[in-house]
Amino acid sequence: MGSIRSRLTIEFTAVLLGTMLLFGIALLTSRRAMVFRELNARLSQEAEQVVAIIERVRQSGGPIFISGPDSLASPDPDIRVQQLLELVPGYVRITDRKGNIRYESALIRDLPTRDSLALDAAARSMSTDGQSQLIQLAQEQVLLRTRKLNGDRANQLWVGTSAESASLFATDLLATVLIIAPFLLAISLSGAYFIAGRAFSPVDRIIDQVEAISDGRSLHRRLAIGAAGDELSRLSSTLNAMIERLETSFGALRRFTADASHELKTPLTVIRADVERSMSPQSTGTEKAIAMEEALQQVTRMADLVESLLTLARADEGRFDLHREPVQMSDLTREVVETARLLGEMAGLTIDVPTMEDAEVLGDATRLRQLFLNLVTNAIKYTARGGRVEISLARSDDQVLFSVRDTGIGIAVADLPYIFERFWRADRARSRASERGGFGLGLAICQWIAQAHGGSLTVESRLGRGSRFVAILPLSKSA
Ligand code: ADP
Repeated sequence: MGSIRSRLTIEFTAVLLGTMLLFGIALLTSRRAMVFRELNARLSQEAEQVVAIIERVRQSGGPIFISGPDSLASPDPDIRVQQLLELVPGYVRITDRKGNIRYESALIRDLPTRDSLALDAAARSMSTDGQSQLIQLAQEQVLLRTRKLNGDRANQLWVGTSAESASLFATDLLATVLIIAPFLLAISLSGAYFIAGRAFSPVDRIIDQVEAISDGRSLHRRLAIGAAGDELSRLSSTLNAMIERLETSFGALRRFTADASHELKTPLTVIRADVERSMSPQSTGTEKAIAMEEALQQVTRMADLVESLLTLARADEGRFDLHREPVQMSDLTREVVETARLLGEMAGLTIDVPTMEDAEVLGDATRLRQLFLNLVTNAIKYTARGGRVEISLARSDDQVLFSVRDTGIGIAVADLPYIFERFWRADRARSRASERGGFGLGLAICQWIAQAHGGSLTVESRLGRGSRFVAILPLSKSA
């Protein structure tokens, strides 16, 4: 019985039975109180009847003697009173001022000794007018009630009646419950099981659909969302959003693997051809040397690619620890500018540094250098001879902006959203063919470095006019 459906069924039935038990107890208590109220009212009436008999006889002029067990010894017993009192049903007992019993009804006289002693003890313990008490006799329970009389011989009166009807109701109720309980249990169990089953059938449907989707090949499918707008519809739309994210990242992963394999395939093919050429007996020494040099170039290129892939993989996994320390941005920029001047000279470009403000960043110097160099080498790579590259470092509030502006080929507006994606290049054929052609991983790494430092990387560009890349980094707090 492990399913929620079975658990719900059992819990629901337990609650139902508990409620019924409470209801039964409440019913029993109120019914008992009602029976005792009725019995008390009846006893009070009987007491008044006894008083009326005594009064009537007194008014009719006769001496009021109420005979008790010692009536035979009494000189003048009033038979009329006794005869009339015998007409009153139930338990009747009268004592005189001294506490001697003056009258007992037939029911009391016929009681076995133990019962009559019990009744006597209970009666003597009750003195207040109108007090009532429940007494357990051998055969039955008796409700006894007192009534004060103001005569010498008839001073205190007790009337009593069987209280069995109160306990009879409890017995009846218990018997009824015992008979109908199994039916009730069966009905509530099956009813609860049915209702829970109906409530959970959409969940079963969702489980089936998710199972069908999660085999990995059907991630394009979505769960049907019910019109009710209830919790299950929300669950379906949440799952749909999750499946969509999975689909996107699976797609990206597949593309990434395909791109990486493709990028590795080209240099491997070249290396293979070079090795074959250098092993060929027809090749001259010079040809062999050229082939080996080309192979070395390809190996270097492959090593770069693998290094970049490793960096990104570690970044994705969050395993890349930045060695943070206070880094003077102006020192770092000066280093980068020096390299840029060397490269720019070779490429026939002018390198300008319009602004260079002092700023300190808490960061990883090696990674920041990689970020700046990447932006600068890109600017040089994509700017034609005679062009200009501007490198500047400026502070604003609590940030430092490292910007690289070039007058190069620029990037089409339609391409701008993709340039930070892995393996993305504006013109693949040209990039790969050219001497410095990259893999399209540089900007992805740059973006990761900026973000890992709590900053960002932005770009503005116009095709044919040039580009401007800005790395924004937060200043170190101590500065
Ligand atoms: P790559 O190693 O191919 O340069 P990047 O990730 O650094 O890879 O750049 C991705 C692409 O963005 C480049 O192939 C190029 O098309 C474009 N790009 C980057 N920087 C510039 C720039 N300064 N001017 C024009 N295009 C650029």
